[in-house]
Amino acid sequence: MKHKTIIEPFKIKSVEPISLSTEEERNAYLKKAFYNPFLLTSDQVIIDLLTDSGTSAMSADQWAGIMKGDESYAGSSSWKSMEAAVKHLTGMEFVLPTHQGRAAERIIYGYLGGEGKVFISNTHFDTTRANIEYSGAEAIDIPIQESYDTTLIHPFKGNMDTERLKEIITDRGAENIGAVILTVTNNSGGGQPVSMQNTKEVSKICKEHGIILLLDCCRVAENAYFIKHREGGFENKSYEEIAQQMFQLVDGAAMSSKKDALVNMGGFLTLRDKEIAKACTNMLIITEGFSTYGGLSGRDMEALAIGLKEVFDPHYLQYRIRSTTYLGEKLDEMGVPVMLPIGGHAVYIDAQKLYPHIPANEYPGQALVCQLYLKGGIRSVEIGSVMFGKYAEDGNLIAAPMELVRLAIPRRVYTQSHIEYVIETFDEILKEAPEIRGYKIVEEPKFLRHFTAKFEKL
Ligand SMILES: *Cc1c(COP(=O)(O)O)cnc(C)c1O
Repeated sequence: MKHKTIIEPFKIKSVEPISLSTEEERNAYLKKAFYNPFLLTSDQVIIDLLTDSGTSAMSADQWAGIMKGDESYAGSSSWKSMEAAVKHLTGMEFVLPTHQGRAAERIIYGYLGGEGKVFISNTHFDTTRANIEYSGAEAIDIPIQESYDTTLIHPFKGNMDTERLKEIITDRGAENIGAVILTVTNNSGGGQPVSMQNTKEVSKICKEHGIILLLDCCRVAENAYFIKHREGGFENKSYEEIAQQMFQLVDGAAMSSKKDALVNMGGFLTLRDKEIAKACTNMLIITEGFSTYGGLSGRDMEALAIGLKEVFDPHYLQYRIRSTTYLGEKLDEMGVPVMLPIGGHAVYIDAQKLYPHIPANEYPGQALVCQLYLKGGIRSVEIGSVMFGKYAEDGNLIAAPMELVRLAIPRRVYTQSHIEYVIETFDEILKEAPEIRGYKIVEEPKFLRHFTAKFEKL
């Protein structure tokens, strides 16, 4: 018999209590947090969909690995496990461990970047852009045109616009391009995948011009799932083989292992070129730690090595992508304006469409984030004018291009009934939508204001 229900392909050995609360209690918590869910404590939250980064549940094997962790300063056996796992996946000779993704980014973009250099990506993730710009270089995003239409169905909305790539190379000169970066899946673009075909084309262009091509491979396993099921010719390849093929097309990669390596902390940089690896290793030793741990405990490296294999389990990946899609499709059927198609790690809601009566300068995304918390104790994140808005000279808000709210799904943490609970919460959200009012910011820091800004209800 073929079952319709895709079950969680794991049993639960260890549980963490969720403290349940009433709407009245949450009303008080939210007020005390100045209507910014980043300022809530985790025990005030029922379902935490703030991020999929570092929030994975580790397996029994990973916990066993934690106990086996070798904490030797140099030449730890746990480092050997991690190095072998990364080499097996990426086929690259040099592996540098880092405490998380942005440390790998700081090292490689610090080396390749600097004044006058240009980096080109399908979309730079915020920490990637920040590290590039901090070096004095410029970061340009060139996703395909289709990616700008939130309701257009396209199998690989994470793809890079290769015509634009060629134009920019001609325009700026190949010698001024620090690197081309493919982010798989494209996190900032809604967790949309990049096809193998696109990767091949980008790789060919980079080779022709002698430009370094890097993979930001945080979600390379999730990306491989989409390739197997959406791109012809990969039906009989394993997810791991697909990922390995992708790495063959690039010169290096940076990973935040807090995503697809199923650990709570960790990352790495991997490279083919000896000279670059040497320079980066020097920087690693100065700023992160010795080259056989780079800011990680032995136990972290052991868990990372195991997670990097587990993530390619076909039953896990099917459950992972299907359960994210399930949430997105149900919301879509109910009439919640979601970004389509549903990406790998999160569901994005267009808060401006849900609350057309709230103008951007009254933050419709923040209104939805607060409603989700009040009605269901669900924590989500605004990705709109709170996060990306800027002020003009006259003090008026320059709105972000979209007012989105992201529901990111932690890996192996929540069950189907948790997801059903989230879906049910949206019944009430939709019903109350016309009466919902916006917010104003009463206090904010100069940079990254979404983390600590304080709001008042209008
Ligand atoms: C999370 C993430 C990073 C940064 O990694 P950290 O571990 O948070 O420092 C870089 N790129 C992408 C695509 C990410 O999702």
